[in-house]
Amino acid sequence: MMKVVDVRTHLMSIPHLKDYRWAIGSPRGTNNVLVEVETEDGIIGYGDACGTRSAEAVDATIRSVRRYVIGQDAFRSQLIMDTLYRKGNWSNQRRFANQAFAGIEMALWDACGKALGQPLHRLLGGKYHESIHWFGFVQGGTPDALADHATRLTDQGFDILYMKIGIRDDIDLLSVASVREAIGDGVRLRLDVNEAWTRTQAIRMSRQLEPFNIDWIEQPLVFWDFEGAALLRSMSPIPTILDQSIFTHYDVLRMIRENASDVLVLGFHETGGLLQLRNAAAVADAAGISLNRHAVLGESGLSTLAALHVLSTIPNLADGNQIMSGLFEQDVLVDGQVEITNARTPVPDQPGLGAQINWDSVGRFKRLYMEVGQYPM
Ligand SMILES: [Mg+2]
Repeated sequence: MMKVVDVRTHLMSIPHLKDYRWAIGSPRGTNNVLVEVETEDGIIGYGDACGTRSAEAVDATIRSVRRYVIGQDAFRSQLIMDTLYRKGNWSNQRRFANQAFAGIEMALWDACGKALGQPLHRLLGGKYHESIHWFGFVQGGTPDALADHATRLTDQGFDILYMKIGIRDDIDLLSVASVREAIGDGVRLRLDVNEAWTRTQAIRMSRQLEPFNIDWIEQPLVFWDFEGAALLRSMSPIPTILDQSIFTHYDVLRMIRENASDVLVLGFHETGGLLQLRNAAAVADAAGISLNRHAVLGESGLSTLAALHVLSTIPNLADGNQIMSGLFEQDVLVDGQVEITNARTPVPDQPGLGAQINWDSVGRFKRLYMEVGQYPM
């Protein structure tokens, strides 16, 4: 028994290097909630909860279930998580609660790894992969700016690029053409629409985008339209993939039953924890479908470390996975903890997540939260 004695949270506003542009808007920073779980032996586990909708609401959600974590054995995180949904009565609100609960679960795993002196991947089945492959996230406000950034990313060694579309059809087509021309034919290119298209628009755009040799188009339709996703998949010349439609292992089952996607794009802030991400990946594996890791706005470098551990244990992992922390001016981790060389990061072997928190940065981001609060989307 390794009893949890405290659960603490830190609400932060983390500025972006530059505006982050996607179909919803262009927020100037990320709101994040750092979770600390302390055990009776004085071990502190760190977790990352996202706060892009409302850091205050995520914090309140964590506080609402604190009583079901304190006093429990940190090594029984499955039972603890189940209790949060049942006794905390969050079961039918998972899409919101999971971004908060994932922070608690991550902190529990970190504490367990530290207690055993073992890296987290060794608690989750061990490394199947030695390093994790990321895509380069192309950002920019104009077709030229996007092309410039895409070129810089390929120069850095990224061989899969990802960019947001769904802004406006004519601008999207110009942007994709500009990026494809800049990077040449040897680099794979993925597009994310973030639910911005109607069914007819999606069919039309997928045909117009065909000449640009697109790897896949992510979440073209609104998240609940599984039937439309299956229909589009049968008509689009480019593979169309679900992301926001899938949060849990039972969503994965529905995706498979309805033939709605060839790849599962999913992250642990949707599933509500690292173990549930593994479970969802296993359901997909049964249908011959790979997991491509999704990152959500609101994640810090702590989530990147957690991703390295859990993804390394997933056999059916796709290439070109997503991280978000590169968007920040400064991360919550000490510098140099998550380095990318030729689009890859080796899986860490320090105990737990292997995270060293930069408390100066955390202090600055907490003060900034007091001043600027929630960044608008
Ligand atoms: Mg996406």
